[in-house]
This record gives sequence, structure tokens and C-alpha cells, in this order.
Amino acid sequence: MGKPNLHAIQYRFNRRSLMILLIIMVGVGALFTWLLVHFLDREAKSHLLTQASMIAHAIDSKKIKSLSATSRDLNSPAYQSIKQQLRRVRLSHEPIRFLYLMGQNKDAEIFFYLDSQPSSSPDYVSPGFIYTEVSDDYRAVFRTQKGAVVGPVSDRWGVVMTALVPILDTKDQRLIALLGMDVQVSDWYIVILLKSLLPIIMMLSLMCVFYLWFILTIKNKRLKEAMSVDSLTKLYSRRWILEQAQIEFDRCGRTYGTLSAIIVDIDDFKQVNDNYGHQAGDFVLKMVSTRIKLSLRKTDFAGRLGGEEFVILLPDTPIENAVYVAEKHCKAISELSLHSSLCRGLNKVTASFGVASTECGPEDLKELLRQADSALYESKHQGKNRVSSYQVDQPTSSQPEWKRA
Ligand code: GH3
Ligand code: MG
Ligand code: MG
Repeated sequence: MGKPNLHAIQYRFNRRSLMILLIIMVGVGALFTWLLVHFLDREAKSHLLTQASMIAHAIDSKKIKSLSATSRDLNSPAYQSIKQQLRRVRLSHEPIRFLYLMGQNKDAEIFFYLDSQPSSSPDYVSPGFIYTEVSDDYRAVFRTQKGAVVGPVSDRWGVVMTALVPILDTKDQRLIALLGMDVQVSDWYIVILLKSLLPIIMMLSLMCVFYLWFILTIKNKRLKEAMSVDSLTKLYSRRWILEQAQIEFDRCGRTYGTLSAIIVDIDDFKQVNDNYGHQAGDFVLKMVSTRIKLSLRKTDFAGRLGGEEFVILLPDTPIENAVYVAEKHCKAISELSLHSSLCRGLNKVTASFGVASTECGPEDLKELLRQADSALYESKHQGKNRVSSYQVDQPTSSQPEWKRA
């Protein structure tokens, strides 16, 4: 069990820190979502381009070369054949809205050879129709001869994502046409949204679990700390100090070390309560505890056993040294100045001390504390404000040096 810091038993994680953590988590979540959507968008574009390339690949380039992009094409078998081909593909692939072949004339105008729509359709374009709403992305594909997915493109046919694939002449690698494949933009985003939904939900759930775990861990630690500290005196609680005493006692047994225990009891404390009131009694308890804390060595532990009784544990300390430490505490308490309106007229408090050590051979912790208690009893019996140590035969009382003089 670690030694909690009695002077600053406060976790740094207050509400503000938790808010900052929450904001960081929201930021991380937003970044993750953005990256995920970006990745899925890229993946979907790449898939669309591959699909369009396969369709383009299946079109006979000789037939395209035979087209004139005029109304004369309407009766040509090549035109009919390619149109049927594109129409079949469009009908069999649900998200595809339009398929079309485009060309570029000498004036750099982009025109249609044909599209997948029947002539009865309002979306149908006739051969040679000039595409006036063309964006630079289209021209770039004509120029670079590299396929691309552009969009969202908004024109008279709606808002679409478009895959553009150049169809090259197998002989001289000259661009003879551009295959365009449109997908409804709403379908596009729905697909991305559906694909990203599961990872986002998983990430949010993980974050919630982490956040709850974090809060619970902090609350748990705070609770443990609250349980380990006595609320009035801010010394360790009875439960904590006895657990610690057991640990130290067991350690002594294993390492053949020495553990000394000092029991402290404020003298005539009932009179303080009776004469000055309970609040004054509490004030004295706090003052004495603070004094004990201040006189405490780094290696020692002090806790409140209950009422006006305390225990100090001194690991690796032989009984003579423990008696010396107890005398130091005894002197310090007796010299306390109690300036408070709560106990006007009460000039001094004293305490009695009982010291015992594992050197006296107690069988267990209970026995060690009983020995310290019997030494304390001796101090009371001898006139209080003094230190007694337990000896195997009987406790011996020592009045501190400064009183003997
Ligand atoms: P002795 O010198 O023999 O130890 O006598 P004493 O009066 O100190 O001991 P006693 O056991 O007769 O009285 C202890 C008093 O401590 C009785 C109880 O009301 C009081 N007390 C116990 N806990 C508290 C507390 O938390 N606050 C206050 N103000 N008084 C307490
Ligand atoms: Mg007392
Ligand atoms: Mg008592």
C-alpha cells in the first residue's frame, strides 16, 4: 500500500481537466472521422475509376473511330452497338446514372459521341452535342490522357460524381474518346456514410468506455483516499493505519527487523469538551494532530485510532529510539500554543505516550498494540504527560528530560 500525501490529498483531475480530456477526445474523434471519410472517399473513387476503365476497355475502339459525332451516326451500326453496350451496363449496375463517350474538336470544344440514354429520355444527348458546362477537370483528362474521378459536378443532368477514362488508339496511343461514367452524388455519400458508420460507432463506444473508465478510476482513487484519511485530523484513518501496521509487522517477521509503535492519548480531554465545548475539543484534536504530523519522521506513519487516541508506527526503529521520538512528540504537544476564541483560557494540553516494540516479542500486531497500550496506561498512572515503554516484565515510565530537571 502506498503512502498517500496527507498534505495534498487532491487529485489534479478536477472538472476542468476532465473537460479538457473530453475536448481532446472530441478532437481526436473528429480527426479520425475526417481521415476515415477521406480514406473511404479515395477508395470509392479508385473503385469507380477501375469500374469505368473496365467498361472503356470493353468498347471496340474501331467502332468509335468510325463515328462522326453528327446525326449521320444515328443509323450507323457502330453507334447502335456501342449505345446498346453502354445501356446494358448502365441498367445492370444500379448506381450508374449515365455512361457516355466524349470527344474534343479542333476548337477544344468537348462534344458527345453518344450516351447510354434512349432517345425518348429527357437526359438523352444527340451526337455532336457540345458540352458547354464543361469544367477544367474534363479538359485536364483530355490533355494528360490520365483517368480521373471528378465531382461533385453540377450541370443540367444533376449533381454527380464522374469517372473519366481516356480511350486510346491501340496503334498510336492517340486519344480517340473519353468515357464518362456518372454516379448520383447522394448515392455516393450514402455509400461512404454507411461504410464509415460502423468504425465511427466503434470508435465512439471505445472513447465512451475509456472516458467512463477514466472517471471511475479517479473516483475510486478519491474514495480510497477519503477512506484512508480521518476527516477531522487529516491523519490516516484507523482502518488504514491498522492495515499499514499489519504490513509492517509482517515485513518485520520476514526481515527480522524492528517495528516500534507509539500510542498517544490526550490527557484529560473530556474536561476540554466539558469546559470549553465540543468544538473546542475538535480544535484541540486538530492542533495536536498537526503537531504530530509536523514532528513525524519521513519513515513514520501516524493515524487516529479513535477519539483522542493516536498511533505512530516507526519501522526499523529500536525501542530506545522510539522512546526518544515519543518524548519529542510529548514535548512538542505540551508546548502547543492554543490561540483560539474557541478555547479561551485553555493554555496547554498534554498527552501521554505508550511505546512498545517487536523486540519485546509480541506474537502478533494485536499483542504489540496491547503492549503499547499497557505502557500508555502506565504513563497515565504515573501522572500523565509522559512516555512509558513496555518492557517484558513491566512497563517503565520515563518523564522527559526537560521535566526531570
Ligand atoms: P485521560 O487523561 O485518562 O485520557 O482522560 P480523558 O478525559 O482524555 O479520556 P476519556 O476517555 O475519559 O475521554 C475522552 C473524551 O474524548 C470523551 C469523548 O467525548 C471525547 N471525544 C472522543 N472523540 C471526540 C471527537 O471527535 N471530538 C471531540 N470534541 N471529543 C471527542
Ligand atoms: Mg485521554
Ligand atoms: Mg482515550
